[in-house]
Amino acid sequence: MTSSEIRENFLAFFKGKDHTIVPSAPMVIKDDPTLMFTNAGMNQFKEYFLGNSKSKYPRIADTQKCLRVSGKHNDLEEVGKDTYHHTMFEMLGNWSFGDYFKKEAISWAWELLTEVYKLDKDSLYVSVFEGSEDDELELDKEAYDLWKAIVPEDRIILGSKKDNFWEMGDQGPCGPCSEIHVDLRSAKEKSKIPGASLVNQDHPEVVEIWNLVFIQYNRKADGSLESLPEKHVDTGMGFERLCMALQGVKSNYDTDVFRPILKEVETITGETYGSDPKKDIAMRVVADHIRAVAFSIADGQLPSNGGAGYVIRRILRRAVRYGFTFLGLHEPFLYKLVKVLVTQMGSAFPELKKQTALIENVVREEEHSFLKTLEQGLILLDEVIAQTKDKEVDGQKAFELYDTFGFPIDLTSLILSEKGYTLDEAGFEKAMQEQKSRSRSASEVAKDDWQVVHPNGEQEFLGYDQLKAEVRLLKYRKISTKKEGTQFQLVFDKTPFYPEGGGQVGDKGYLEVPNGDVVYILDTKKENNEIVHYAKNLPKHLNDPLTAVVDAESRARTARNHSATHLLHQALREILGSHVEQKGSAVHAGHLRFDFSHFAKLTNEELKRVEDFVNERIHEHLPLQENRKVSMQEAMNEGAIALFGEKYGDQVRTIRFGDSIELCGGTHVQNTAEIWHFKIVSEGAIAAGVRRIEAITSDATREYFREKEEQLDEIKAHLKSSGDPVKAIESLMEDNAQLKKELEALQKDKAKGLKSEIKKELEQINGYKFLSRKVDIDAGAMKDLSFELGQEEENLFLLLGAEKDGKALLSCYISKDLAASKGWNAGQIVRELGKYIQGGGGGQPFFATAGGKNPDGLKEALDKVRTLIS
Ligand code: ATP
Ligand code: MG
Repeated sequence: MTSSEIRENFLAFFKGKDHTIVPSAPMVIKDDPTLMFTNAGMNQFKEYFLGNSKSKYPRIADTQKCLRVSGKHNDLEEVGKDTYHHTMFEMLGNWSFGDYFKKEAISWAWELLTEVYKLDKDSLYVSVFEGSEDDELELDKEAYDLWKAIVPEDRIILGSKKDNFWEMGDQGPCGPCSEIHVDLRSAKEKSKIPGASLVNQDHPEVVEIWNLVFIQYNRKADGSLESLPEKHVDTGMGFERLCMALQGVKSNYDTDVFRPILKEVETITGETYGSDPKKDIAMRVVADHIRAVAFSIADGQLPSNGGAGYVIRRILRRAVRYGFTFLGLHEPFLYKLVKVLVTQMGSAFPELKKQTALIENVVREEEHSFLKTLEQGLILLDEVIAQTKDKEVDGQKAFELYDTFGFPIDLTSLILSEKGYTLDEAGFEKAMQEQKSRSRSASEVAKDDWQVVHPNGEQEFLGYDQLKAEVRLLKYRKISTKKEGTQFQLVFDKTPFYPEGGGQVGDKGYLEVPNGDVVYILDTKKENNEIVHYAKNLPKHLNDPLTAVVDAESRARTARNHSATHLLHQALREILGSHVEQKGSAVHAGHLRFDFSHFAKLTNEELKRVEDFVNERIHEHLPLQENRKVSMQEAMNEGAIALFGEKYGDQVRTIRFGDSIELCGGTHVQNTAEIWHFKIVSEGAIAAGVRRIEAITSDATREYFREKEEQLDEIKAHLKSSGDPVKAIESLMEDNAQLKKELEALQKDKAKGLKSEIKKELEQINGYKFLSRKVDIDAGAMKDLSFELGQEEENLFLLLGAEKDGKALLSCYISKDLAASKGWNAGQIVRELGKYIQGGGGGQPFFATAGGKNPDGLKEALDKVRTLIS
């Protein structure tokens, strides 16, 4: 069975069991403060498990793009070394939200594996939660009995809390699980060691393929469990592992998911996969990582210096490093794999196909710059080695190389061992741990349990129509971070506050409390589909009705910038072409930022046309046409632009101004006239093929122009001319150039004169020529003069002193032969003399300089040199 058929069969099977099939959510998560990447199929359904909202469908199945490279699930370091963990993988899953439970989940899983996929029953093992004393939980008897009816008891393995109890995080929904494992070994090996003893023992041929989680508890902040009123099923099956089991191979990399990519790696390197274990690891790393990187870029996450972008950059660099070190690839190569990946997965994941060129460009550029870093790192490492005396390189130094220059530690170790050096690994580890705990404590958030004031209901967002509303507090909790200190998160039954999302910042404002107090709302965010308000303190009477008031001024300015962003998007597509796609946007009260795919710098002419286009739409006074609830299909038919990497529901909201129509949840002006004016303030590249425009609107443009005007007035005042300042500046520049020329000529003359003066003054002492005197030239001229004289005179000792801008300068020149024969060192001499001018200096044995803050000491320094060398 091909991998495509395997995927299709899974979905068809559960469709047949009344499941609704939904598309994969984006792999890169936006607007969720708790998670950067989707790491399991259930992420997109978190809100249902938490009871914040109700799923429209009681049963769902899908295949979900997952990435396990950070946080709770981090498999990065395993990837490539083993044959069944990936960074990016697909998780096939079926869900029940308060609908079916263990019985159906278990029997359907078995039916699918053994009857549809026809996996050999004798090669399967299942596990059941054995119970845990900490939680006073007993064996999951219900699951055990269900399995006992299907498989022989010696194939049921009891598992501990670590393997068989699943939790979403430190708090929240959780429950026991049953895993299904497959034993891929040969009959002969099976007869030697029973498979049951290898389950969950990291054996490469006895691996977990499916995890059935039965969510029936809620973990509270104090660690205790409470039973959930509604029970849910959450299952996840590794697609690549399933393909391995069904295609009769013993490694995920031997399935048709990975073979084509590996084949291309073979072509690029000229190596054969399977011939050298070290190179095999590197080839697997490369084949795996290009998927993670390509899918992230397709989801709109570019490699960058922080957050999710940095995680992606690290994955890409890990692949480059393995290629560089083990496959001898010193030129960009990863980008060449993109086409194969697209051919193979482009029809299941159209976002890949549509953005092939962008992905290739971004990857190639990243590779290029990292390879440069590697080259520089190699030079720095040589310096570190040169400073190392006892053959062991300081761990702290290696850490700096890693931390500041991004030079990978495994490469450091490898190079050191090749050169016969070792690395102080303990020192490196220590430095690493120190840094980790520093960054961890800064970002860690401690959260108390939610305190319920009024029982949960569905929450209503009023912010499209109202900026003020009577609200009731449903629940709150205390959170604290090192940076922000203690804050309270508040959830209301309804709210006019817009939560950060779609690039637009969250609203600020305040709550009016009946006794006259106010509680300031500092920010608003969405968490698990709930609108959460951040406040510094709590209202005194939690039960009282409160008036929630949004900061109207800030909201209005933000709305103008948001609507202008849509017009800008439209302008770019009109003027540059329809290849322009939004790659990021940030809408604040003060300015807007828009990132988009385009391959060249915008010319001034293009920028002007874009500005004009937007300003024309503003002056046309286009009214807002908002449609809050249309089907996705209708919106697309109308021509709405949907962004890759966004999660859309069945019902979407469209925002139209004239011909600009977008899917958008943000807040907008009622008429483009409110934007008043649009001005681009900067344009530049943020990655290969991705550009960024920053712009302002309304009152911000007024201030911008006023500032420019004031600047111009100041310039005119300086120019002391009321005429055209450009002409005045041009003539100043001409004068300046002329004066410079004259000055240079004069200085040359002066230097010539000085040189012949000095030649006359040279004193003959015991076979060398000596002079120590004050001159009136700058440091550069002192050096030039010294070297010129050195060329013309043999055995020269020349000490020059000068005063420049209230500081003292000394330069000492000694002919090389003279320095050697007398054992003089110009560097030492200026250091000695430096004390007279209250300064210091240094240099080489034949030329050195010193600077100091006491020009009055120059005379003494120039005099003292005679005694110093005699
Ligand atoms: P393992 O112990 O093998 O790391 P897990 O316990 O972390 O697996 P789950 O979190 O239960 O796995 O995920 C459900 C399924 O997803 C697993 O049964 C497995 O088939 C698959 N899976 C998990 N992690 C990976 C990965 N890094 N690469 C590929 N498939 C994975
Ligand atoms: Mg795991």
